[in-house]
Amino acid sequence: MTTDETARGSDSKKNLNAQWAAVCGLLRAEIGEAAYQSWLKPMTVREIQAGEIKISVPTRFMRDWIVAHYLDRLTELWGKENPAVKAIDIAIQSERDVLAPPPGKRHAGDEASARLSSHGAKYSSDLSAPLDRRCTFEQFVVGKPNEFAYAASRRVAEAAKPPFNPLFLYGGVGLGKTHLMHAIAWHIRERTPKRTVIYLSAEKFMYRFIRALREQNTVDFKDQFRSVDVLMIDDVQFISGKDSTQEEFFHTFNSLVDQGRQIVISADKSPSDLEGMEERLISRLNCGLVADIHATTYELRLGILQSKAEQLAVKVPQKVLEFLAHKITANVRELEGGLNRVVAHAQLVGGDITLETTQEVLHDLLRANDRRVTIEEIQKRVAAHFNIRVSDMHSARRARSVARPRQVAMYLAKQLTARSLPEIGRKFGGRDHTTVMHAVKKVEELSEHDSSFAEDVELLRRMLEG
Ligand code: ADP
Ligand code: MG
Repeated sequence: MTTDETARGSDSKKNLNAQWAAVCGLLRAEIGEAAYQSWLKPMTVREIQAGEIKISVPTRFMRDWIVAHYLDRLTELWGKENPAVKAIDIAIQSERDVLAPPPGKRHAGDEASARLSSHGAKYSSDLSAPLDRRCTFEQFVVGKPNEFAYAASRRVAEAAKPPFNPLFLYGGVGLGKTHLMHAIAWHIRERTPKRTVIYLSAEKFMYRFIRALREQNTVDFKDQFRSVDVLMIDDVQFISGKDSTQEEFFHTFNSLVDQGRQIVISADKSPSDLEGMEERLISRLNCGLVADIHATTYELRLGILQSKAEQLAVKVPQKVLEFLAHKITANVRELEGGLNRVVAHAQLVGGDITLETTQEVLHDLLRANDRRVTIEEIQKRVAAHFNIRVSDMHSARRARSVARPRQVAMYLAKQLTARSLPEIGRKFGGRDHTTVMHAVKKVEELSEHDSSFAEDVELLRRMLEG
């Protein structure tokens, strides 16, 4: 038994922190300020157990990097500081850390407020999924495509009473829905820790509900959810179709709204486009504020890259950032992944980051992005091919000369993009999804019977995929 293990309580914690400060200072001098900011600073020292120091970090990427580069030296330095330390274990932030405020945001009053909120906290730590520490409002880059969703989320986080209920955030994959929800949760937990915030994926909500049903524990289940101040459910498109869960969701939802509690929901589609949702649930979802996150623009992508490069504390040439913003257009997640790979590669092989190394490191990602086509491009190409105006793609004109090309464009949009039928309909002057379905069938039919038409369509497809 070491002294650390026998002397439990705040004393040993203080000791641990003092040791960490000393070790950190030494290593910081060795590896430099930039690396310190990126890798050491985000670490949280948890405890010592049987000679092993437990440290957690926010992401898998960070853990792998630290283990590969600094673990040996860390262990050595700590061993000198405290001979009882034999090993260091680095884990990814887990559920148990959820209630701690984000790094650098600790205040003297925290202890007291933590005690005050211990009842609510117990519930939320049982129910809430872990929050990513990097997903705060401060770290969210605002641009035209997301400014409305951002402003709405801030309102919700800052308001004492729900300014609109529910807040419904929707948009494609990797555009920042989860980030905004986590930001709301961090903000509230930090400013008003007495309020209970629960963040859950819709899948988890469903899973818990089904488990409660099986254990005949639904009363507890309902009570837990009904006693929260802010309930956030992510990716509700996964709830659609499951009747009993929808039913329960609907009741929980109503009772929370009636009690003036805030609800925040995200999905990949608007409430009306969610397939398999009950009418009454849709109309309830439409009652609050529906905020749409649009696809990224070049300016936003560049802004995000600049901010992420700053956080990583590495110098990335402007040319490279512009290149990435230009090339990786799918979503922010891929953009971030691309930058991380370029940075990690440079730090591993020790070279500079250049346009050439970037192209080399990311060749697979860049190829995949090259192949992605947007509905706008399809409309432009098809309109040019058939010699009609692009505006006719959105117009109500029904003359065969414009209706047919429009159907071809809808067909290609279905074939070449990941957009749903309602989304495609909307991009064609707000047409219904059944119109798109009809267009797809029509083009298939015509292609079967008219080989020159089929060739036209095939040619267009190849040009677009080019
Ligand atoms: P979604 O939930 O919409 O699929 P996420 O919220 O998970 O997307 O975002 C994907 C990644 O991109 C996350 O790492 C997130 O932090 C980052 N991200 C998205 N939008 C922004 C933004 N505007 N500023 C900074 N980071 C962003
Ligand atoms: Mg998400």
